[in-house]
Amino acid sequence: MNGSLLDLAKARTVLMDGGLGTELMARGLPQGSPPETWDLERPDLVEDVHRRYFAAGADIVSTNSFGGSRIKLAGHGLEARAAELNVAAARLARRAAPPGKWVAGSIGPTGKFLKPQGEFTEDEFTAAFAEQAAALAEGGADILLVETQYDLREALCAVRAARRASSLPVFATMTFNALPRGYFTLMGDGVAKCAAALAEAGISALGANCSLDSERMVGAVRALRAATPLPLVAQANAGQPVLDAEGRVSYSQGLEDYVRFVPDIVAAGADFVGGCCGTTPDYINAIAEKLFRRTS
Ligand SMILES: [Zn+2]
Repeated sequence: MNGSLLDLAKARTVLMDGGLGTELMARGLPQGSPPETWDLERPDLVEDVHRRYFAAGADIVSTNSFGGSRIKLAGHGLEARAAELNVAAARLARRAAPPGKWVAGSIGPTGKFLKPQGEFTEDEFTAAFAEQAAALAEGGADILLVETQYDLREALCAVRAARRASSLPVFATMTFNALPRGYFTLMGDGVAKCAAALAEAGISALGANCSLDSERMVGAVRALRAATPLPLVAQANAGQPVLDAEGRVSYSQGLEDYVRFVPDIVAAGADFVGGCCGTTPDYINAIAEKLFRRTS
């Protein structure tokens, strides 16, 4: 099954899902509450989001486990439930997946920093990610998606942990900012450095997600394509978050403007395309229309 996912990416663009946290908030997840708790408390709503993404045309959905590492959950006193929450997250997405569709076990950043900027060691990060990866594999994930990484060192801990804890293919997406001299993570690592180190660590696909809107994502994919022969993943944000008077978050890039740049993202070399913050099942449906169902 996993082999055929990478085979599919050779035959056509593989469609991923869009924002999950923003969809859960739209269904009433309180601001500041860890979304992972809903894998146990509101499984019906999480599963509904997954099903809507599959119905919109997604080939892969990501589990509701982005903040599911023990270190991240510790901020909410939930560290002891890390394994349980990740198994539940993967089972929910698996249950929502039609036959022949895929589940990516989402592994986001810890929210903490490694020494010397922070207080954690690489061994501590690696142990937390290994626990999460093993639980996602146990729950039925087809691949592990180390995503939204802004620190290459942390991403490498997660990739190595995922490779050690399971036999699943590991994808990694870094979050880059567009600077005049190119694309760089928050910690200052450029595309070529990330690509070389992550390839060495054994990833099956590399990509960029979050932060960039779909127009700026085109350049990031071009830079990634120049840096690696690996399959590429692109999941752009729907622009930047905007707060309204009531404190509600919306995103600045509307659906039509977002989708307009998707063919350029594909032409630049992306093999897997989906959305990130602010994108909804409507965005994924519109991407599918644009890429696969063009009638005129
Ligand atoms: Zn995002």
